[in-house]
Amino acid sequence: VSKQAGRNTYSRFSAEWNESNEHSLNVVNGLRHALERGEFLLYYQPQVNMSTGVIVGAEALIRWMHPVRGMVAPGEFIPLSEETGLIVPMGDWVLRTALSHWQRWRSLGMQDLVLSVNLSPKQVLAGGFVEKLAEVLAETGFPPDKLCLEVTEGIAIHDNGLALEVCRGVRELGVHLAIDDFGTGYSSLSALHRFPFTTMKLDRSFISSIGQQDQSETVLKAMLGLARGLHMDVVCEGVESREQWNRLQALGCGVVQGYLVSRPLPVAEFERFVLGSGTAAG
Ligand code: C2E
Ligand code: MG
Ligand code: MG
Ligand code: MG
Repeated sequence: VSKQAGRNTYSRFSAEWNESNEHSLNVVNGLRHALERGEFLLYYQPQVNMSTGVIVGAEALIRWMHPVRGMVAPGEFIPLSEETGLIVPMGDWVLRTALSHWQRWRSLGMQDLVLSVNLSPKQVLAGGFVEKLAEVLAETGFPPDKLCLEVTEGIAIHDNGLALEVCRGVRELGVHLAIDDFGTGYSSLSALHRFPFTTMKLDRSFISSIGQQDQSETVLKAMLGLARGLHMDVVCEGVESREQWNRLQALGCGVVQGYLVSRPLPVAEFERFVLGSGTAAG
């Protein structure tokens, strides 16, 4: 039922609940109450500057502590949350909670990190997103250039002009904007060109192919060149081995995120990890 993955134990619904309507209904009912019952939590995964070895950022990743099933990964409930619209209040909660964690990190004496938060296309397109963001930033006094919002290139597919407008609004507030899982979607190049992205997160499929086939490194190099040409920061996702680290460093990648440095950690563990390591992995 549940599988051990390091210190994270995930319960997979699909293992004993078949992919039935009943299953979806149960999950939707559970999700509706999860927010008010405080069953969501945020994990954080560090991001490290390759040339200094210093932790420069963290990505907030939601988890659902289900009262019966245990820890549930987002792949199991984000799609249903999007279908039902629950993603909007959930996304508000994620943003507010992550900002308040960051404020505590500062009070603990941590160096300011760039905090990355994932956005679903539904949230972006729900209306009033930029106003809501501006309000939260003003209320909390959060420095906008320490926040990075991640959207996938799918955002451009739905686009009727609104997505672009929201992305521009986010940039006008001084918040960074990342294209997540870059290279896996359809509209990669046109989205890059049209949207005001500051950061490219290279999908881990490109990193996992390092050392596997000759062609992969050619593609990787081209992507890094593209980011450089467009003056975008690069974060390489899913770095798991020393070999991958070394190749990426040689290719001039800026920042990495992956199990080699650390898995996503519960917030208290994340704090200990950062405070205990002036530098990491380098
Ligand atoms: P993502 O934004 O691309 O996040 C990175 C995912 O890769 C995370 O999975 C992380 O645990 C995993 N990962 C990091 N390093 C490695 C590695 O070295 N190897 C491997 N195999 N995996 C690695 P996670 O936490 O299960 O999240 C999955 C996706 O769920 C995220 O992909 C994101 O699209 C979505 N998600 C997570 N939190 C939120 C949220 O608060 N809001 C929204 N809208 N989506 C979220
Ligand atoms: Mg992400
Ligand atoms: Mg990603
Ligand atoms: Mg992803």
